[in-house]
Amino acid sequence: MKRRNLLSTVAAAALAAAPLGAMAQTAYPTKPITVIVPFAAGGPTDALARVLTARMGEALGQTMIVENVGGAGGTIGVNKAAKATPDGYTILFAHMGTLAVNIALYKSLPYDSQKDFEPIGLGGTNPMVLVTKKGLPAKDFKEFEAYVKANQKKAQYGMAGIGAASHLGGLMLNSMMKVDVLEIPYKGTGPALNDLVSGQFDYMVDQAVNVLPQIKAGTIKALGVSTLKRLPQLPDVPTIDESGIKGYEVTIWNGFFVAKGTPKDAIDKLNKALVTALGDEKVRARLIDQAVDLPEPKDATPEALRAQLKASIDKWVPTIKAAGVQPQ
Ligand code: ASP
Repeated sequence: MKRRNLLSTVAAAALAAAPLGAMAQTAYPTKPITVIVPFAAGGPTDALARVLTARMGEALGQTMIVENVGGAGGTIGVNKAAKATPDGYTILFAHMGTLAVNIALYKSLPYDSQKDFEPIGLGGTNPMVLVTKKGLPAKDFKEFEAYVKANQKKAQYGMAGIGAASHLGGLMLNSMMKVDVLEIPYKGTGPALNDLVSGQFDYMVDQAVNVLPQIKAGTIKALGVSTLKRLPQLPDVPTIDESGIKGYEVTIWNGFFVAKGTPKDAIDKLNKALVTALGDEKVRARLIDQAVDLPEPKDATPEALRAQLKASIDKWVPTIKAAGVQPQ
């Protein structure tokens, strides 16, 4: 055999013997990536996912397609992502409700958020706002509290299912106000907000990114924010804590995850794309304007998200139990 032929035979043999992981290193991603958002379109998770993945897709050279899989407080979508083929082509964008809080709210869940997923990185943390329908006879938090206390079992609050962020926000508020009101579940707070605007229920605690435009348009009222400091976007709206519900503080982190078993190369590339998106000035300006607390690119590591998930489970599971909420 001529020397040249011998060399190419050796090269071909080496390629054939290369472990799959090493070959994937240069290839991924070769086709569009599905991003499961476990809530309806037009809500806060969807909004954040779309802005971030549009930029991530550019960085990866592939389209990222958002698939809204709403229902059961996000558990249906999260479960679908947990059971997806672990090849990096199905990823999850979910929040601390669906991955940490709901451990205390369901007797059993079809997934284990710490064992069934690999974190990619944090995608932003959202403050929440207590919003009411325009016609609710309350001009401030005190009047709202008095109204709900006087109308127990008749007043209605909207939420995106058991374990959703809006459920946690409403549940903690109702429990700390010591009121019993009716829950109106939706597949996401996008559709819930439409019904609040048309006055079909009384109030909701939802992520700022979703409700700010309607507050500014005057179609709903903002009576409190869920952080211990007021929001620059709503300087005249007091915190719920300063209005008398001492210690009320709920913020919602969101992050990207993949099913356990996904090749490390895909995780690294997805993380790098996220870091690129978080470092993009246009992306930052747009989301920060909507009150999203964005991590610095260097802080969006898989390890930081893993630690965040654990810290939220350690914080919220006992808090919800202490509030006397029975799992379903
Ligand atoms: N994040 C959900 C949504 O996007 C709502 C929620 O968790 O309350 O609709």
